[in-house]
Amino acid sequence: MALLSALMTGACAMTAIDHSREPVADWPALAMRIELRNGLAGVCDISTSHFMSVVGCAVIDFDARTCQIYLDTRHASAEALMHEQLHCRGYDHPDEHTVRNGWVRHKVLRREREAASVLEAVRPSS
Ligand SMILES: [Zn+2]
Repeated sequence: MALLSALMTGACAMTAIDHSREPVADWPALAMRIELRNGLAGVCDISTSHFMSVVGCAVIDFDARTCQIYLDTRHASAEALMHEQLHCRGYDHPDEHTVRNGWVRHKVLRREREAASVLEAVRPSS
């Protein structure tokens, strides 16, 4: 996994999605993939949610333009799937900015990488 570009929404319990805030205007189209798993350790960050039942998470790779959805088989439901799909479309939980900040950060990193490669190209060889 490309650590620089991958973004995890964190563990999602059945919290709400903030529908009142539209995704950022330049949110990219992401190919969604769905995987059901028996337990989400190792794929979703479950360390912060010991007291909640974790339903799923979405792992976004902006470079690859993919959004990998993981759902726990014990809690999988149409509602849970819809929740993660909304993350893939750029929606956050209320009072959170994880998804939109991830996209902004990705764009900054991409510009830095491009600038670095330009410098590399113009550097005189000695
Ligand atoms: Zn969520």
